[in-house]
Amino acid sequence: MINRKKLQEQLLLEREVYLTSHQNSYQNKSKRSEVLLYNAPMNWMQQWPLAYPITIESGCQHKVTDIDSNEYIDFCLGYSAAFPGHGSKDVSKLLHEQMNKGMVYTMPSSLDAKVAGLLKERFGQDFWGFALSATDANRFMIKLCRAITNRKKILVFNGCYHGTVEEAFAMGENGETKTREGNIGIGVETSRTTAAIEFNNRAALEQELEKGIYACLLLEPVMTNCGIIHPMEGYLEQAKELCKKNGTVFIIDEAHTITTDYAGYAKKHNLEPDALILGKCIGGGFPAGAYGVSESIKNKIDEIIRVEYSDTSGIGGTMTGSIMAMSGIKAALTYELTKENFIRANANTDIIVKGMGEIIEKNRLEWSIARLGARFDIWFAKTPGKDASEAFSQHDEVLYEYLFTALVNKGYIMSPYWNLLGSVSPYLSEVECHQYLLDFEEAVMKIID
Ligand code: PMP
Repeated sequence: MINRKKLQEQLLLEREVYLTSHQNSYQNKSKRSEVLLYNAPMNWMQQWPLAYPITIESGCQHKVTDIDSNEYIDFCLGYSAAFPGHGSKDVSKLLHEQMNKGMVYTMPSSLDAKVAGLLKERFGQDFWGFALSATDANRFMIKLCRAITNRKKILVFNGCYHGTVEEAFAMGENGETKTREGNIGIGVETSRTTAAIEFNNRAALEQELEKGIYACLLLEPVMTNCGIIHPMEGYLEQAKELCKKNGTVFIIDEAHTITTDYAGYAKKHNLEPDALILGKCIGGGFPAGAYGVSESIKNKIDEIIRVEYSDTSGIGGTMTGSIMAMSGIKAALTYELTKENFIRANANTDIIVKGMGEIIEKNRLEWSIARLGARFDIWFAKTPGKDASEAFSQHDEVLYEYLFTALVNKGYIMSPYWNLLGSVSPYLSEVECHQYLLDFEEAVMKIID
């Protein structure tokens, strides 16, 4: 049972420890604030459960070191963009070789067909397009879906995140969809571009898709952006069927769920989406996104793409599909996103999830663990939520801040958003997994009766 008084006291102590052991990070933050628009090179890097973020000096496999010389096991791994680890020598060698031959031609190269072939072989989609990021891939795919269906609106789930895609910052309640809190500067009212419904609600899904007005349904097959939320049995199959019946393109955004398995979640579960979105770790650390489509979607795209207008189509850009992005994808698929690494990352996650479950049970905590391949997170509730509204209502800000801070002070970085979400690297040793469990338990013991 959590003792709230102890929790508050321990949180204050851990905050103090953090401030004393991260003074260089503090000074660097002050320097950044003088010249950087968001106190950081990217807006949401400033969103950190503590007073200021750690400033990183270097990374190596599953570890990072900050400018105060603190070393951490990294469970954030660049929000999975650095999955399975940092600083791969093989990836770096391949990228350097290409760098010496040029980084951007904005003309095709012989690598393009090879890379698309590798993606097809592994993920199963017939034809591939490229983008700078998962955001970018989602944006292109949504535009293509609108063009081929001649429909304006898209359907998403509450609590989703698909990058900085304006249409996807949507929250629906009682049949009404609004812009998600915090999203700024929208150009078109969200209710005109999007409908958002709760995940795992079969009736709502059917009701919306049967309207036959949506260009696409954009979804993560397992939600990962407000805790890990698994689909109910048959839910994704139902979504696919309804999409097919009603002329809506079924898009699976695999940016995070790729960490489930060597071939991603969709392939593992035979979902055969109309379109599959990849990003983050697919570029081996280099910015890259990709969207793979079925042959029938490709045929429809062929009908609407006019080559003479492709520069004004709104699809692509100067750096899109650059030789560096292609090299990054090739390197990631060849050296890092390997079967062996998935096996090892999953074996490490087995140890961690089992151990955390035991700690929860032993201490009669009303928490649970959700797991997706090499990813796990804690729910501060007896069972993981089934949709965003449960996720939001079960979120415990103080508990989250305490555990996050205590773990940072013990040398672990979790994803700095949502409960204690972690991506598990194959490079962790068994000893490190067990040490993590001991440290986690020690942090827990300080706040319970
Ligand atoms: N899709 C999903 C499911 C994501 O979680 C994210 C980022 N967290 C994105 C797309 C966007 O990725 P990026 O910021 O790399 O464009």
